[in-house]
Amino acid sequence: MHKTLENSSSRLEKIRKELHQYPEVSEQEYETAKRITRYLTTHCKGEVHAIANTGVLVSFESKKPGPTVLLRADTDALPILEVNEFTHKSLVNGVSHKCGHDGHTTIMLGVAELLSSQPPIQGTVLLLFQPAEENGMGAEAVLKTDFFRDLHIDFVFALHNLPGFKKNTIVLKENTFNANVKSMIIQLTGKTAHAAEPEKGVNPALAIADILQFSEKITNNHPDQDDFFLITPVHMTMGEIAYGISAGDGELHLTIRSWDLSLFKEKCALLERYIAMTCQKFGLKHTISWTQEFYANQNDNEAVDVIRKGALKNLFDIHEMQHPFKWGEDFGLFTQRFKGAMFGLGAGEDTPALHNPDYDFPDDITATGIQQFFQIIQEINRT
Ligand SMILES: [Zn+2]
Ligand SMILES: [Zn+2]
Repeated sequence: MHKTLENSSSRLEKIRKELHQYPEVSEQEYETAKRITRYLTTHCKGEVHAIANTGVLVSFESKKPGPTVLLRADTDALPILEVNEFTHKSLVNGVSHKCGHDGHTTIMLGVAELLSSQPPIQGTVLLLFQPAEENGMGAEAVLKTDFFRDLHIDFVFALHNLPGFKKNTIVLKENTFNANVKSMIIQLTGKTAHAAEPEKGVNPALAIADILQFSEKITNNHPDQDDFFLITPVHMTMGEIAYGISAGDGELHLTIRSWDLSLFKEKCALLERYIAMTCQKFGLKHTISWTQEFYANQNDNEAVDVIRKGALKNLFDIHEMQHPFKWGEDFGLFTQRFKGAMFGLGAGEDTPALHNPDYDFPDDITATGIQQFFQIIQEINRT
């Protein structure tokens, strides 16, 4: 292990647990940004900038011409109640770091420390602490800033910790890394009536049932197939809890994902047509709106190769994925614009899954994440 890393590992574990105790949801990462900035200005060199409201960026310039490399960590937590009882448990009721972004942030702080003692030999390294990954707003907000508008970047990289994989394994995937994801909100308006006379109103229940069944019919939940397409009902409401009233309105929320963008668009349009037809059949008015859009992250294979070479040099275990992951990630917006790749960092076979209430980022994978990012910079500056 690098000497700097040995010296800073207990400090990094401390900040990781502090971030865990004070989680903030997407677009509210004000205190998190302050903690990151404080850490960077106390323990690191490099120029620190505030970006996109609650984001932080630190740049390390070598003063020699060379490639610009951006490494990205996400910083937000989730509206999930933590069930863990350990001493660093979340102090914010109903909010906790259940995706390990506290760990991703800590890894990037570790990279900043390493770059402070061993600066890049050429070009520029930018470390981005990006807010609002979970609601899909952060990458877009950052990329819209003046700082990024005209910025030339040669490579972008990000990692995500992965429960279910052996700790400290580097997980690689060429081409598509994860799914296209977006969510649909369907609002149905009919007419209330006396519960004894539902025939005098327009109740949305059967239309909702119909739409759900059609959703299931066009779903192909086989991630090993190119035409993987998954619709998951996430929320619905209808009428009131009033036993004398037949419901007159309803709302249905679906989350939709696939690997292939054209298939995704085609099937979403099919679903929209089916909903319109069903609503017409039942005499309902309807509106459809879309939210939380994530584009599939397309890994550049040269960038994947840089990660692979770095992992081999560090003697880390490598797992090559055959199929993409089913979750969305707004890093997809970065790889749409810049050459780059996302990779996984094994978080332990027995670690609870991401977004589960008992999940906690394992601190014993932090050093691997730091060294892997650092080695990526070395590999790029060597070529
Ligand atoms: Zn997440
Ligand atoms: Zn995440």
